[in-house]
Amino acid sequence: MKAAHYSNERKAIMIYVDNAATTKLDSAAFAAMKPFLLDDYANPSQPYSFSRNTKQALKDAREKIAKCINALPEEIIFTSGGTESDNWAIKGMCSYEKSPIITSQIEHNAILRSCDQMEQMGYPVVYLPANEDGTVLPKTLENFIGNKARLVSIMLANNEIGTIQPIEEFAEIAHSHGAYFHTDAVQAVGHISIDVKALNVDMLSASAHKFNGARGAGFLYVKKGTPLKSYMNGGSQEFGQRAGTENVAAIVAMATALENNCKRLEENSLHLNRITDIFLKTLKVSFHRNGNPSNSLPGLISLSFPNTTGEALLHILDLKGIVISTGSACDSANQKVSHVIEAVNIPVEFAKGTIRVSFGKDNTEEEAKTVAQTINSIIEKQRNTL
Ligand code: PLP
Repeated sequence: MKAAHYSNERKAIMIYVDNAATTKLDSAAFAAMKPFLLDDYANPSQPYSFSRNTKQALKDAREKIAKCINALPEEIIFTSGGTESDNWAIKGMCSYEKSPIITSQIEHNAILRSCDQMEQMGYPVVYLPANEDGTVLPKTLENFIGNKARLVSIMLANNEIGTIQPIEEFAEIAHSHGAYFHTDAVQAVGHISIDVKALNVDMLSASAHKFNGARGAGFLYVKKGTPLKSYMNGGSQEFGQRAGTENVAAIVAMATALENNCKRLEENSLHLNRITDIFLKTLKVSFHRNGNPSNSLPGLISLSFPNTTGEALLHILDLKGIVISTGSACDSANQKVSHVIEAVNIPVEFAKGTIRVSFGKDNTEEEAKTVAQTINSIIEKQRNTL
């Protein structure tokens, strides 16, 4: 038999601290999705009685998700994940006038590459800078918005450095200039409290696998009355706004996982803050902590070390059974300093040595200590061989 690439023995001793890349499926979510893979496999759009359960499951999932973010059920549109939700929010707001789009320099590539495409089609796009802790200042938006912009899209929390943005202020500025406001909340949903009414956003992207749901499902919150054009054309699923047979099992898992995480938001963030403190106290080598620790996603830590590279650290840690990331999951194949680290002006001697440690609710204090001690010994060894 062919050997498994990553054996079960190796998984048993692995310390997984890359939860911003993806998370382990919640066991209750797995139990909830299973019947829809094996027994209740009916297409929810069919009129016969076999489809009753799948139809009801979609309805229940939509209601549960809506409740978690204070939306109406009909404002939740299921998608295949964060990338699709982001692409849709940007491209679905296109206008005949080719009105400007405003975003930030530190967005995920799902937003940046969508904006590139809009630029190629003749839409002016403004990329707002962030300050050194990764915050986009509302006055910067005020300075650039003008009266022609149709869409402003700024992420709720950054996937590489964790900084949380002042979304209510951006939404207010956008609305007062006649623009709609979208936020990429992929890293935030299921981890911090989200109330779309209080945030006053018109659209919000989320992805199930970032909050212990299954990969391949997500949603876009679209406030009633937002003139978003459909992006996937075909059948009349999802209120005629997003064609394609729904991934019922993954949607059911997403709703269960989100409900479970939302019930334990406070407990989970206290735990994540505690293990973050232990991790940082155990780290004895010098480092620069990126982002804004006082306003950041719980458990997401971006660190830059001098005289090393993020890639070297990632691979040595990997050999020792510890899974971290150099930046965002999608950029780790790319050896360049990430666009976020570049945008927040980390000194060059530190920038190349950047790693992201993202703890999840199941990580333990012991694991946090082991990760820090292992980083200490790798960096000390590297220093002694310089
Ligand atoms: N937006 C942000 C901020 C992300 O961190 C990610 C994934 O890393 C995405 C969008 C893309 O989400 P998905 O992997 O569900 O397509």
